[in-house]
Amino acid sequence: NEIEMNRPTWVEVDLQSIRNNFLKIKEKVFFRDVICVVKADAYGLGASKIAATLEEVGADGFAVASMEEALTLRESQIKKPILVLGYVDTRNLHLASLNEIRITLFDKDFIKRLKEYRNETPLKIHVKIDTGMHRLGISLEEVPFVFEELSKFKSVIVEGVYTHFASADSDPDYTRFQISQFNRVLEYLKERNACPKVVHAANSAAVLNFEKAYYTAVRPGILLYGITPNHQKIQLESDFKEAVSIKTRIVKVSYYKKGERISYGGTYQTEKESLIATVPIGYADFIPRNLSNKGYVLVKGLKAPIVGVITMDMMMIDVTGFPYIHPGNEVVIVGSQGENKITMEEFATLSNTIPYEILTRLNKRIKRIYK
Ligand code: PLP
Repeated sequence: NEIEMNRPTWVEVDLQSIRNNFLKIKEKVFFRDVICVVKADAYGLGASKIAATLEEVGADGFAVASMEEALTLRESQIKKPILVLGYVDTRNLHLASLNEIRITLFDKDFIKRLKEYRNETPLKIHVKIDTGMHRLGISLEEVPFVFEELSKFKSVIVEGVYTHFASADSDPDYTRFQISQFNRVLEYLKERNACPKVVHAANSAAVLNFEKAYYTAVRPGILLYGITPNHQKIQLESDFKEAVSIKTRIVKVSYYKKGERISYGGTYQTEKESLIATVPIGYADFIPRNLSNKGYVLVKGLKAPIVGVITMDMMMIDVTGFPYIHPGNEVVIVGSQGENKITMEEFATLSNTIPYEILTRLNKRIKRIYK
């Protein structure tokens, strides 16, 4: 009803599939802790709802990109530990400690800023080690200095240490190199009795391929949603279930005679009398404009090509010869219909990008419907 009364364009999120995928991950990592990555609004799917679902089924913690994202989860009554993977301003450290939000120390200069933290409530931090991604983290050489300095703080608890893989989806040698770098750090800390309680590294690709990277916890994101981190290299076992479909409905259908131009700029001209349907989804919603005259969708279980350029809120598809087309017919952009299916991976590849980008570009105005 909510869909029928409004612009009929929606994302279907199958929570049962997400629960299933979480439990598969838990089993696969031999019941290590699973820190669920729900940054960027749970990859566009709605962080509050997704995190609540995961918490119910046993998530051990959550990871997000910013304090704002962490506080949003707390406001929606998420109780488990939350780790901010990215930048946190020193003025927010107190807020973090009060809300059981862990922050990441990813730069040795942060030690100086930590000195501004003088509070009763202890601040929990995770130290990030740069083992080869070269985005955030302290170098191996900086480890002795940073841990020595941190041991001097009374109200700072070093709860965790972690690293992030650059190519766990595509380059096993480089990943093994990163694991060995990280292990060197862990050995150094263990020798000094200074190894934090929570040790984590594995993103989805490493959960699937690198058992040696499980440590005490893993940190998957995309796999929770049943999507492979790299479909050219990693096929998912069939017990992972795709949780995301994107759908809309036809709002107008018209016959045009041969030679008519469709959409802005007339980049498409009908080659014969054609039945053209207009659907309310466009580039403002996330559809890459470069799918104009190239992409396709499913209507009545059949592939319908996108014709003419994609506009901001709408696009046209060719449904010539399709059975009984009328306004209201369901159109599948990603997902299954009848015997046919367009996977997220297939859609992303055709768009020259990756599923992560497609998901996180889903505009707020598209309704998220949870099943
Ligand atoms: N850990 C960090 C630091 C990340 O930035 C991400 C996502 O980009 C993840 C874990 C989860 O990655 P994935 O969704 O590939 O499992």
